Amino acid sequence: MGRKLLLEHINVPGINTFAVYREKGGYRAVEKALKSMTAEDVVEEVKKSGLRGRGGAGFPTGMKWSFLAKPEGVPRYLVCNGDESEPGTFKDRYLMTYIPHALIEGMIVSSYALGAHTSYIYIRGEMMPQIRIMEKAIEEAKAAGFLGKNILGTGYDLEIYVQPGGGAYICGEETALLESLEGKRGNPRIKPPFPAVAGLYGCPTVVNNVESIAATVPIVNDGGEEYAKIGIERSTGTKLISASGNIAKPGVYEIEMGLPVEEFIFSDEYCGGMANGKRLKAVVAGGSSVPILPANLILKTMKGEPRLMTYESLADGGFVSGTAMGSGGFIVFDEDQCIVRNTYNYTRFYRHESCGQCSPCREGTGWMEKILYKIEHGHGDMSDIDLLWQVQQKIEGNTICPLGDAAAWPVAAAIRHFRDEFEWHILNPEASLQGNYGLAHYADPLVPVTE
Ligand code: SF4
Repeated sequence: MGRKLLLEHINVPGINTFAVYREKGGYRAVEKALKSMTAEDVVEEVKKSGLRGRGGAGFPTGMKWSFLAKPEGVPRYLVCNGDESEPGTFKDRYLMTYIPHALIEGMIVSSYALGAHTSYIYIRGEMMPQIRIMEKAIEEAKAAGFLGKNILGTGYDLEIYVQPGGGAYICGEETALLESLEGKRGNPRIKPPFPAVAGLYGCPTVVNNVESIAATVPIVNDGGEEYAKIGIERSTGTKLISASGNIAKPGVYEIEMGLPVEEFIFSDEYCGGMANGKRLKAVVAGGSSVPILPANLILKTMKGEPRLMTYESLADGGFVSGTAMGSGGFIVFDEDQCIVRNTYNYTRFYRHESCGQCSPCREGTGWMEKILYKIEHGHGDMSDIDLLWQVQQKIEGNTICPLGDAAAWPVAAAIRHFRDEFEWHILNPEASLQGNYGLAHYADPLVPVTE
């Protein structure tokens, strides 16, 4: 069994309440940090832990914290990004629903480390139950003396507020989130300046993901070095994975970094293998914005080594740029799934969510959707595949925020690894209209269910 740091007590009845969470050792990290550590000590432990942002970018959290400007007399803010809306990702929602105090405890520890006295949890507007749960958790923590003025008699003051999000995917991008939090339309800002210098209301701000903030609790409790012992190389600690698609046991799993992908998919401890005896065809390992990988490449790297659940291993192999670990949304496709249809669905989503500020994203996502619709519905010709490739190339790296890349990468990877499916749709327009890519056409690189 892999170690559990965040979900250790997930099955304890009442763990969502302050009383039971405290009984199980909750809020020890707050006591330790506020009573026996300086803010710099906490930052140092987070640096030592090697924790990397769990929202998608994978940037080292301790380093991000150390960039925070500290001008005299200017407030600093911690903003928790709970706007989770990447298709295939639902682990932050799970954490907030079942162990809300893990997030509150992490918020207190992190706010203390950053010198913030007002912090926000920005939660996707559609997640009303989670908004209510977090508000209740804040009330409970406050009633117990862990929030408000002079916390635990240490002289440290902190208020945490929950802010319902603007209901757009782009509000999960940190600068769009800050715009939305300020009451404006959630459009990404041009960087620099970065939020660490000019963030919320123009003040120094750190924006961290829900899971990243919760992970500071075991780091403070056990020390950064202990946390760094879990995992491999620059991928340390544990990671929550939202597993979905054609697997026997979809759900949220906490894994130790470095777990072989094959074990994650096929062992009973995690996904339990493929559903209904089907064969594995492909995996999107980190939410809809990362490249799709065919079965042979998700289980083994280009060098033939076992592929691991780490930032490095999932990015290895000469795919389009970017890490394939992303937000930890692990979507598994069986042999019956159509890659063209799936790519069309994702592209339609990104076209809808583009804020429209930059032309490559605004126009490019629309054109990609149109071309994919044409191919998927049996009206495409071979030149459309090349046109699609060119359009995604014009988007990647040419936009204000990462949504452009997020829209381009899945299209590039689908063409790179499944070009034959695109061609099949074009060569078989009638069959294409009737449904999925024919089973007989993709004997390779399928993997048997038992592997
Ligand atoms: Fe808006 Fe897209 Fe440009 Fe991001 S990349 S700022 S979502 S138009």
